[in-house]
Amino acid sequence: MIFETIRGLFVNMTILTSFIMFGNMIMQEKHIIKSLRNNITNGILSGIFGCVLMLFSVPISNQVILDFRYIPVVIMAIYVSSYAAAETAIIMGLFRLAYFGINEASVSAFFVIIMLGIVSGAIGRTKLSIRDKWILCIGFSIIVAGYSIYTLIYETENRSYVLLVFLSGLVSVSVLMYYFLEFLNKFNIKIESIRNDAEKDYLTGLKNPRQFDKILKSHLNTDTGAGKEMALLYIDIDHFKKINDQYGHSSGDIVLKELGMIFKNLARSQDIISRRGGEEFTMLLVDCQLEQAVAVAERIRSAVENSEFRLSEQCSIHITVSIGVAALEPSIPDGVKLLEQADKALYQAKETGRNKVVVI
Ligand code: GH3
Ligand code: MG
Ligand code: MG
Repeated sequence: MIFETIRGLFVNMTILTSFIMFGNMIMQEKHIIKSLRNNITNGILSGIFGCVLMLFSVPISNQVILDFRYIPVVIMAIYVSSYAAAETAIIMGLFRLAYFGINEASVSAFFVIIMLGIVSGAIGRTKLSIRDKWILCIGFSIIVAGYSIYTLIYETENRSYVLLVFLSGLVSVSVLMYYFLEFLNKFNIKIESIRNDAEKDYLTGLKNPRQFDKILKSHLNTDTGAGKEMALLYIDIDHFKKINDQYGHSSGDIVLKELGMIFKNLARSQDIISRRGGEEFTMLLVDCQLEQAVAVAERIRSAVENSEFRLSEQCSIHITVSIGVAALEPSIPDGVKLLEQADKALYQAKETGRNKVVVI
């Protein structure tokens, strides 16, 4: 009996771990996260998950079953919301009644899980640390589930041992799940920061060229039909070397950062901006014709010309930029040609006086 209980609970623990791992994997997909962000979906999924745990429970008597169904409720309460915890509890409580039949044990189990949903939901809302929330929620589960099981398994000889195995299992698995979730959380944060570093320019926070080229390519691959509109601005600061020479490299960096902000403010959310390197920037204007792109470029040029770049309390300067513009057309069919053409136009802007927008 004791061995069967340990074996069954071990299976329950492995199911818990694999579900958490699977959930974490799904959460990595940005488009899936959006639809999972609402509490309803989270609560339903974890409720179903709890039902699976019950399907693999350890039968102790003809009415009583043991499993770790409390943990999904606690996870929802601590990491998602009290609503998600309540939903999870309701789904599991109803499933306990519907699937295993209405009897003394299932009614008691129903009330235990509902109480846990409410209490852990309230604990989840407090400002306590994650660790303390776990301790309180699991402490509460041990008291209510322990009491309910103890009073229900009166016909079992080994009830003290069974209960001891179950409750110590619940505590150990909760500790394990706490560390597992904390590890996953830290791991996700690290991955996100590495991903950011790999995609962004460290100085301005704009996209780096590798990421820009990847996005440019993907835009062209996903919609290659005739009439695809896309334009590119190649922007270069005029006489930037002089600014570095006169005010120092760190002042030059301030200018680059502020310029990045100006570009972000003027661009639409779907436009992709990158620092190409040094004092050169590219901006991809999606769904944009050549004339509109020229108008955008002119707006940027004039905004830069009229902006004050504050280098220190006492010193602010003005700068200008030259911009080359190109748009997709039959003779410029791909990203490489688009960049080349905009670069050529920029070169001409430099040759013919700077602080201007050129299309060729
Ligand atoms: P032009 O009008 O012909 O573009 O002249 P320019 O001086 O802007 O161009 P040039 O290519 O001669 O010089 C670019 C300068 O940009 C030289 C380099 O010191 C500076 N630069 C490149 N990267 C950075 C950076 O990350 N920070 C700072 N502060 N300066 C940089
Ligand atoms: Mg320059
Ligand atoms: Mg340059």
